[in-house]
Amino acid sequence: MSGGSLFVANPARADALTKELRDKLTPEQIIQTMKTGNKRFQKGERKQRNYLREQRASASGLYPAAALLSCIDSRAPAEVIMDLGIGDIFNCRVAGNVENADILGSLEFACKLAGANVVLVLVMGHTACGAIKGAINNAELGNLTGLLARIKPTVEATPYAGERSAKNYSFVDAVARKNVEMTVANIRKDSPVLAELESKGDIKVAGAMYNLETGMMEFFD
Ligand SMILES: [Zn+2]
Repeated sequence: MSGGSLFVANPARADALTKELRDKLTPEQIIQTMKTGNKRFQKGERKQRNYLREQRASASGLYPAAALLSCIDSRAPAEVIMDLGIGDIFNCRVAGNVENADILGSLEFACKLAGANVVLVLVMGHTACGAIKGAINNAELGNLTGLLARIKPTVEATPYAGERSAKNYSFVDAVARKNVEMTVANIRKDSPVLAELESKGDIKVAGAMYNLETGMMEFFD
């Protein structure tokens, strides 16, 4: 009864995604499964799983269903908030979930190499993001300055009529949302490999926002 990848329909039969199971999944099915897992998380429920069995079942190969780009924020661990298991997703984490050459290389690896052939790339932002606040405040600190410079054009590009400050949570969240949209667009622009895979219908690049207050994931269309 225990264990099993969230994506596996019959948990009694498999503890991790196999190539055969993964190759049948569409991006829409994966998003639906993530939504279902997040609903369980919001109710304080969790799929009964056995990490040791998942670890053993996935040790000889990886067949994840999706590649995520999410923030380092300790309150937004994608696997936990969507009730995912070992081997279910790749997860690139960087403050402010912005893309750069190394992130794109990781996503290209996830979608094209290592037998991965992931069909969904999901950029996941979250509310009350410290990196977004730092970009709004023009924070400067060592290497962080360069990272925040990637978010600053988004601050400018965010339409917002009220107070445009980091103290205004609604503005911070509007920028975070715009940052997800722009990162999705930048992935397509800066990675011809991923853009071609998407235009052929092999992958879907999508965005989502996680709300720290409600625990809810919102997937963009
Ligand atoms: Zn963040």
